Amino acid sequence: MQRTSGPGVRLRQLLSLRLVTVRLAKPAPAQLGLMLDGTRRLPVLDRRDRGTEFIQLSVSQIANPPESTGMAFWSINPYIGCEFGCSYCYARDTHRWTVERNGLAGGSVEPRFDFERRIFVKHDAATVLRKTLEPSRVGNRLVLIGTATDPYQPAERRFGVTRAILEALLGFRGLSIGITTKSPLVARDVRLLAMLAQLHRVSVSISIISSDPAVIRRFEPRTPLPHARLRAVRALAEAGIDVGLLIAPILPGITDGWGALGGLMAAGKEAGARRADGFALRLAPVARAGFLPVLSHDRALAARYQANYRGPQVGPAYQRALIGRLRTLQAIHGFPLNKFDPPTAARRPAPPSPPVAEPVTRLAL
Ligand code: SF4
Repeated sequence: MQRTSGPGVRLRQLLSLRLVTVRLAKPAPAQLGLMLDGTRRLPVLDRRDRGTEFIQLSVSQIANPPESTGMAFWSINPYIGCEFGCSYCYARDTHRWTVERNGLAGGSVEPRFDFERRIFVKHDAATVLRKTLEPSRVGNRLVLIGTATDPYQPAERRFGVTRAILEALLGFRGLSIGITTKSPLVARDVRLLAMLAQLHRVSVSISIISSDPAVIRRFEPRTPLPHARLRAVRALAEAGIDVGLLIAPILPGITDGWGALGGLMAAGKEAGARRADGFALRLAPVARAGFLPVLSHDRALAARYQANYRGPQVGPAYQRALIGRLRTLQAIHGFPLNKFDPPTAARRPAPPSPPVAEPVTRLAL
């Protein structure tokens, strides 16, 4: 017969209570962020009226080495997804992979808007960078911030992950750091960038496809307008920061005219850009699906794109003609003939002046 009182009994009762307590403390699936179907649910940091959700994403690594990306540089992307929502954006796949790889549950956002309305915020990026960055491993390679999504997209105003990453980089020396953005928000960090430039080689590229707001709005629903981006070029240049124009992507038959490219270069030069370069639109499947429908009202142009983009790249004849045009314009406007050339390259003899108004259709499209 078991005793019902005494110290041994109380001990057994306490032990059983602890067991019960432990069982109750075991997190329920919802507390683990698991949905009933086994997918994960991450904390929603904020929501906008138009439906955008900002989701907290923890990472174990923030600087991606060339070996893992196949690119020639290290890359850092503080956010996955981008509210700017450019029709030609190639990074939509990265967003889908992140969702699938992490087994994340669908948000309340319609799937076709997922990339631009469900933004993953790498909230611990700066801490992870401080712990994991090994400058000796990076060596002379460029560390490029904003290779897949814009590091100064609207989310940055709210969450400051890019700024925190730059602050973390103040703890290192001797790196080559590049930033690519379409946003004048980068000028917010002008003093921080100037401090960084004392410790590292720092360059900023302001990406822009046209100086015409109507063209911008046709292909980029929510990016800042050209005058604001050029104002950022000026602010950075005045602070002594190496800033250039990245005319990209150049849309064949739309933004590749002498006047359009030359006008952008002239505006960039006037604002203080030290370099200007560009490249043609790439149409990998995900970019093709977003971009081609925007052309649908112009059947002739849409047909030329279908004919000339048989794969992700436009044909080599067009590429050669475009590079020639860019080099000519770089020389005319006093830019290095190639962004990787030393600055003295701009002093090479200028090639012959271009024809005044060659129709853009002469390029292979
Ligand atoms: S700003 Fe860059 S990352 Fe954002 S949608 Fe446009 S192309 Fe994509």
